[in-house]
Amino acid sequence: MALSGRFLEECRRLAGPGRVLTGEAALTAYDSDALTHGHHRPEAVVLPGSVEELKAVLALARGEDAPVTLRGAGTGLSGGAAAAQGGLLVHCSRLRRILSIDPLNLVAEVEPGVVNAALNRALEPHGLFFPPDPSSGFASTLGGNVAENAGGIRCFKYGVTAAYVLGMEVVTPAGECATLGGPAGGLGPALGAPWKSLFVGSEGLLGAIVRLWLRLRPLPESHRTFLATFPDVGGATAAVVDLVHHPLTPVAVELMDPNCVRLVELSPFKAGLDPGSWALLAEIAGPAELVEAAAPSLEARLRRHGPGSLRSTGDPSERLRLWKARKVGGGLPGQVSPDVMVQDAVIPRTRLAEVLAEVARESEAEGIPVIHLFHAGDGNLHPNFMFDARVPGQAEAVRRLGRRLMEKVVAVGGTLTGEHGVGSDKMEYLPLLFGPAEMAAQSAVASAFNPEHRLNPGKLLPGRRFRPGRAGPGTAA
Ligand SMILES: Cc1cc2nc3c(=O)[nH]c(=O)nc-3n(C[C@H](O)[C@H](O)[C@H](O)COP(=O)(O)OP(=O)(O)OC[C@H]3O[C@@H](n4cnc5c(N)ncnc54)[C@H](O)[C@@H]3O)c2cc1C
Repeated sequence: MALSGRFLEECRRLAGPGRVLTGEAALTAYDSDALTHGHHRPEAVVLPGSVEELKAVLALARGEDAPVTLRGAGTGLSGGAAAAQGGLLVHCSRLRRILSIDPLNLVAEVEPGVVNAALNRALEPHGLFFPPDPSSGFASTLGGNVAENAGGIRCFKYGVTAAYVLGMEVVTPAGECATLGGPAGGLGPALGAPWKSLFVGSEGLLGAIVRLWLRLRPLPESHRTFLATFPDVGGATAAVVDLVHHPLTPVAVELMDPNCVRLVELSPFKAGLDPGSWALLAEIAGPAELVEAAAPSLEARLRRHGPGSLRSTGDPSERLRLWKARKVGGGLPGQVSPDVMVQDAVIPRTRLAEVLAEVARESEAEGIPVIHLFHAGDGNLHPNFMFDARVPGQAEAVRRLGRRLMEKVVAVGGTLTGEHGVGSDKMEYLPLLFGPAEMAAQSAVASAFNPEHRLNPGKLLPGRRFRPGRAGPGTAA
């Protein structure tokens, strides 16, 4: 083991004996995030219980010259929270206090390990909510959401995580604290506030986020949810493009392909969707009278594109059932396939049908089934390629599909990630988008905060190669 006994002893003294994991079984649980086809085992996992402990651990890691990977809930889908070069993994799940809710100022102050859904449960009695809602929100942490600039179903109307970060406290790789923005950080030109933006979407490369001031919104008075089914991709995607122009701006515009609908309907979360059709789920929200007045014009937009069926509901339990079906849909491919590669990109909405048709053609030619469900209003694409890495040639076929998808995405004016980040998964595609000067500028920003490239090496940007032999026995390339 490359981490020294003295270093691990010091970590145990700081965090407590049960809070430093080095056993094979425990480390196995950390050898990937939710992108499970690569394995990168850390040499040790530490679970600090306070900011002071985390600071001291980072300072110790610097003395040890060890690579450090930060982890929230490990639900990321680009390999970001896996220890690509072994070393120390810092799991932030014990930093999970909601420090304050200020209903009058619409601000919550939280530690990074607070789970997204736990914050929303705490906000509900105040009549408030935190809008960004990744479908993993029942497990994913706010620190992980900010580090990935997470999106979600209702982000079409409300915007992604970046729009809700007022300020944060971070610990630098040298073990020092810095405050960027604050509770008023997003409300005016607050001194220092723009720096926080660098940390939103920084994928754990710049520093550890240890405290967040988040912007809240009042819960809407009323919702109406629409379910339309379409026999083909053309009608479904044309309806998406039409819906986003509705004057009430829908909260959500989501698509599931017929394969995804079939899986949902075979699961305990079936919601009466029509297997064999594309399902479009949309929602509007606001004052009850406004929502009811707007519903007919939204339905008219859906009808224009030849839906096989169309219904809407304002009933809270039916609405919950429909959204639950959509949210669990993301996890179902993994239950029926030995391996799944979820790709993630964003393209102009008007090119959705063309790119989806190309993905269908190419995956059929490679003999790799694909399932789609995605935040269509945002122009996101999430093909789930289903394969079995034990079958010779399948992993390579999926890699080819991923590369061709990214080439197409860039060719139609899109970009390499809609919300899952670059992590270790997408680094090879960066040259499709950035030239040497752009790469150098981005690397210079990372180096300013993380000069020794200690934090999350092997992710997002090319960085340092720590001495070989660090990675544990479960490691694959
Ligand atoms: C079923 C499913 C559905 C999903 N749906 C969505 C969706 O709708 N929208 C979406 O955007 N994503 C979605 N995701 C992806 C994932 O849940 C998000 O990226 C989420 O934000 C990750 O949070 P996490 O706490 O699990 O972070 P992790 O996976 O643990 O870490 C993610 C990144 O954040 C860094 N990090 C973690 N904590 C800190 C910290 N305290 N300081 C600095 N860096 C840190 C890590 O180093 C890593 O680079 C989904 C994933 C799954 C499995």
